Amino acid sequence: MRDIDITLKIKRYDPEAKKTWVQDYSLKAGRILRFTDLFRRINNELDPTLAWNSSCEHAQCGTCAVQVNGKPLLACELLVENAVAQFGTPVFKIEPITVAPVVRDLIVDLEQAYDRVHKAKPYIIDGAKKPAAQDEIQILPRDLERYVEATRCINCFCCATACISSQRGFIGPNAVMASIIRLMDPREQAKEERLDLLYSEEGIYRCHTSKACSFVCPKEIDVAHFIALAKEGKFNI
Ligand code: SF4
Ligand code: SF4
Repeated sequence: MRDIDITLKIKRYDPEAKKTWVQDYSLKAGRILRFTDLFRRINNELDPTLAWNSSCEHAQCGTCAVQVNGKPLLACELLVENAVAQFGTPVFKIEPITVAPVVRDLIVDLEQAYDRVHKAKPYIIDGAKKPAAQDEIQILPRDLERYVEATRCINCFCCATACISSQRGFIGPNAVMASIIRLMDPREQAKEERLDLLYSEEGIYRCHTSKACSFVCPKEIDVAHFIALAKEGKFNI
């Protein structure tokens, strides 16, 4: 397998100098290297000052989310050969995701990004008591399938970056998903409080069903479909 000559055009930001620029890095890359491997190689061989983020590198934590040629994705999931095939070029523009201010280079302030999710209260606000005659609160197998799909979300904010409405007053697809999950949850009793947020000024009526969120979701959650059903008040189909 021959290496591929690639160029990464990475958007840099120096917070001390308040300077933004694009820096080119050219390297010969093995075909099955991931983009996080490329960033690490840049640090080790070309430029130790490039700042980027990753943690699990198994597509389970979302911290390595970046934009590659405008598409938000997880850098740990993208192989060089797949990137060349997908984008039809060995030249890649790499930018940070857009849901929060940039701290440095490809790192954004995730605490600020998470403020949106926290607003949606991603936990059971008021849990139902267990029925006396049963050991557990039951959920139908059909509903469980949808519930499992919804709970695959890792809060990588790829959907929120792709969503134009998220830049215009909408709390964002993953934040509303956090609330929709609890509206599907038979244990949650605070449905009214959740519906108030969902149908508020920053809620789901800001979504114009472009489906960009579903298109980019690395966990293959059909976010737009969940939101479309929520607009009709349906949470268990
Ligand atoms: S379908 Fe709605 S939530 Fe998804 S990207 Fe489009 S506007 Fe945003
Ligand atoms: S819904 Fe998908 S794209 Fe959006 S934050 Fe969750 S895992 Fe990421």
